[in-house]
Amino acid sequence: MKTQVGIIGAGPAGLMLAHLLHRRGIECIVLEHRSRKDIEETIRAGVLEQGTVDLMRELGLADRLLAQGQAHHGFELRFGGVSHRVNMSELTGGKHVTVYAQHEVIRDLVGGCERCGIPIYFEVSQVSLEAVEMSPVIRFVHRGARRQITCTATLSLVATDFTDRVDERYLASCEWSTRRRTRLPGSAS
Ligand SMILES: Cc1cc2nc3c(=O)[nH]c(=O)nc-3n(C[C@H](O)[C@H](O)[C@H](O)COP(=O)(O)OP(=O)(O)OC[C@H]3O[C@@H](n4cnc5c(N)ncnc54)[C@H](O)[C@@H]3O)c2cc1C
Repeated sequence: MKTQVGIIGAGPAGLMLAHLLHRRGIECIVLEHRSRKDIEETIRAGVLEQGTVDLMRELGLADRLLAQGQAHHGFELRFGGVSHRVNMSELTGGKHVTVYAQHEVIRDLVGGCERCGIPIYFEVSQVSLEAVEMSPVIRFVHRGARRQITCTATLSLVATDFTDRVDERYLASCEWSTRRRTRLPGSAS
C-alpha cells in the first residue's frame, strides 16, 4: 500500500489529524491497535474545550455533539456558606466548555472517516517504522497477514504531548501517559 501520511493511533489526536489532512487533500491511512468497538466504548474524557467544538463544527462532524452536548458556562466556588459564581463565558467573550463524552467524539470521527473514505485498520499488531528519514515504511500485521505502507511522510501519532522535527518531516510521537512515551527511529530527543 502507498499513501502520503501514515497515522499510528486512532485516538482523538490521530483521527482529528486524519480529517485535517483529508480536508487539505492529503491522503492518509490510520492504524489502530484496538478494535473499533473498543475505542468507541472506552470511557475517558467528558469535557470538550471550545476550540475542540469549533474544530469539529468546522470539519462538519459536530451534528451529534451540538444536539447532545451540554454547554457549561461557569461554576460556583463556595466559601463560608456563600456561593461565588465564576461565569467563564462572560470572562472569555462567550466561550464555554461542552460536556460530551470522548468515546462519542471517537464515534463521530470514525464515522466521518468512513464517509470520507479515510482507511482505518483496526486491531493491528507488530507496528514498526523503517527508513523514517528517507522513504518511510510502516510494517504491521492485520488479520494474520503482514502488510506494509510506504509513505511520502510519516506521522506517528499516539497521543499529544511530544513533537520532534526530523529532516523536514514532522513526527508526533506521544503518550498521554509519559511513562509509556514512544520514541521513533530518528527522534531528536
Ligand atoms: C478518566 C479520564 C478522564 C479524562 N477527562 C478528560 C477531560 O474531561 N477533558 C480532556 O480534554 N481530556 C480528558 N482526559 C484526557 C484525554 O482522554 C486524553 O487527552 C486523550 O485521550 C488523548 O488523545 P490522544 O489521541 O492523544 O491519545 P489516546 O486517546 O491515548 O489515543 C492513542 C491511540 O493510539 C493507539 N496506539 C497506541 N500505540 C499504538 C501502536 N503502536 N500501534 C497502533 N495503535 C496504537 C491506542 O490504542 C489509542 O487508541 C481524560 C482521560 C481519562 C483517562
